[in-house]
Amino acid sequence: PVPVLAIVGRPNVGKSTLVNRIIGRREAVVEDRPGVTRDRVSYDATWNGRAFTVVDTGGWIPDAEGLAQSIAAQAEIAVTLADAVLFVVDATVGITDDDEAVVRILRKSGKPVVLGANKVDNPALEAQAYALWNLGLGEPWPISAVHGRGTGDMLDAVLAVL
Ligand code: GDP
Ligand code: MG
Repeated sequence: PVPVLAIVGRPNVGKSTLVNRIIGRREAVVEDRPGVTRDRVSYDATWNGRAFTVVDTGGWIPDAEGLAQSIAAQAEIAVTLADAVLFVVDATVGITDDDEAVVRILRKSGKPVVLGANKVDNPALEAQAYALWNLGLGEPWPISAVHGRGTGDMLDAVLAVL
């Protein structure tokens, strides 16, 4: 079986856009709002000749316990099933309580984590990515899922731990 990479993060940070970038097809649904139900969230991908499975998360309707609980629960399931995790944060927003909630789950899992600092669409935004060192997850990789900026270097880092 090929290794599994879970893409986790709070809604709207660009997880599905990044999944589409990684698989080179527009199959993951990109939404301005969270809460779209999707039955298929696993996709075949290759990078540098290596095959792996990408699992998108966040396509479920938030439950009665609220959005933060829902994000945490989804992340927990995805991380349990994954060999490594790509944690996506919106660098233009910075660290939120929901990001912190996901970080606690990632730490508990002991799985390797690569940190994608998304929406760094141009060099001027790169400084904002460096603030994400404060998450304590190591180096933030500045990327733009929309433009493809930086995603190759980040994927090299992912494959190194997958
Ligand atoms: P998800 O909820 O984390 O899956 O986020 P989506 O992939 O659905 O994207 C949420 C919104 O962020 C959409 O409007 C995307 O077009 C936008 N978005 C995603 N990646 C980027 C990026 O790299 N730069 C910018 N400027 N917007 C992005
Ligand atoms: Mg999504």
